[in-house]
Amino acid sequence: MKSELGIYIYMAPAAAVIFSAAFFGAWLLQPQRRYILFFCVCFMAFAMGLLSQFLNIPSTGEANILVSGGLYTFAVLCLIEGAKARVKVTGGDALLFGIAGAIMMFLYYYFYVDRDLAMRIYAQNFGYGLMFVVAAVQIARPSQRRGADKLVFWLLLIFGLHFFPRTLLTMSISGDLHHLEKAGGAYDRDAVRAAFGRTPFWLVLNFSLLISSLLAFLALLGAVVADVIEESRQEGNADPLTSLANRRGFLRRVKAISGDPSRLSMSVVYCDIDHFKSINDTYGHLVGDQVLQQFARLLQSEIRPQDVAARLGGEEFVVLLMDANLSGAHVFAERVRQEVELARFPGLPQQASVTASFGIAQWRPGENLLAVMSRADTLVYEAKRAGRNRIAVEPHNVGNVEGEG
Ligand code: GH3
Ligand code: MG
Ligand code: MG
Repeated sequence: MKSELGIYIYMAPAAAVIFSAAFFGAWLLQPQRRYILFFCVCFMAFAMGLLSQFLNIPSTGEANILVSGGLYTFAVLCLIEGAKARVKVTGGDALLFGIAGAIMMFLYYYFYVDRDLAMRIYAQNFGYGLMFVVAAVQIARPSQRRGADKLVFWLLLIFGLHFFPRTLLTMSISGDLHHLEKAGGAYDRDAVRAAFGRTPFWLVLNFSLLISSLLAFLALLGAVVADVIEESRQEGNADPLTSLANRRGFLRRVKAISGDPSRLSMSVVYCDIDHFKSINDTYGHLVGDQVLQQFARLLQSEIRPQDVAARLGGEEFVVLLMDANLSGAHVFAERVRQEVELARFPGLPQQASVTASFGIAQWRPGENLLAVMSRADTLVYEAKRAGRNRIAVEPHNVGNVEGEG
């Protein structure tokens, strides 16, 4: 058997073991990403399935077909579950496990009941193709803004679809496999394996397994790398204390929004907590931090999904309000001002009250948002000078409109 198939049969299993080891290493580096383990187990099960089939393990009896079939099916399930866990898609497993179970039942039936190699090939290949396509549809539901998500989606879809034409094509040129096992009455396992090993189906299958597992490995590893990069990018844009955007994250969002010509009105609200230094000095830095966190939560709960709130540094916050003119922004700021004044802050005595001062400026079409931010910032100092715990709004006719001289 081994001499029939040659040394190259070890290429696909060896590659799969290497891919599995690579994912294991990736998981050790990123243990919080449990989905990587699914990919690691997937390639290991795939390698074991290949070896079981090629080397006829277990060689006792005929269990080999169900063992290798079971390992392949398990590998497919692992890849799919990993892809689903990666984008946190739950549900729909009953269908996938149902197809997997059906594949195993077909394998059993077309071996023990009505022995038919061709039917087993159809059951396995069409079954796996169907599982991948179903999984692609399942992970396609959440928004696929990111390239890595699209990559995994297309991997599953194309990989799934390729099973159908490849199986039909190779079967059509492989002669009559239906009767391969039945010829001559008594079942000669080695003769069947040798005959099967000479079929175009087997040769094409081997080559395509090697290529497609390499492509799957590269795509999945690429998705892992993209996830790691994306997370560190997100971290660079967020303030670790309050989880709001930091200055960098805010400016990024502002830049993205500025490029949208459909925006008609936007306003910038600056806020600065009053006498924050004395909160720190009186109750300690940790309580000061808690006040900042509570203030950020309050701000976040007041904005709508399209607005952006950020902590620019220290006890200075900014909110970009979409589709809001000065009076709309004033209503918003007044609500926040009152809520802050009335709110209980953890770590502070009951009677202690925290207040903040606000500056509001409106964006004019064509204007650089940084200029609006700077006007709102200046207005905060006006509010401070006027006695704090108040709002300073720019006059309605002010606003440097670029392009209008
Ligand atoms: P004003 O009413 O004029 O705004 O006075 P203020 O005391 O709030 O302003 P000032 O700028 O004098 O002080 C801000 C203080 O914020 C000083 C700094 O130690 C403190 N601070 C900056 N970042 C943090 C932080 O992350 N945590 C804590 N607890 N304090 C911070
Ligand atoms: Mg300040
Ligand atoms: Mg302050």
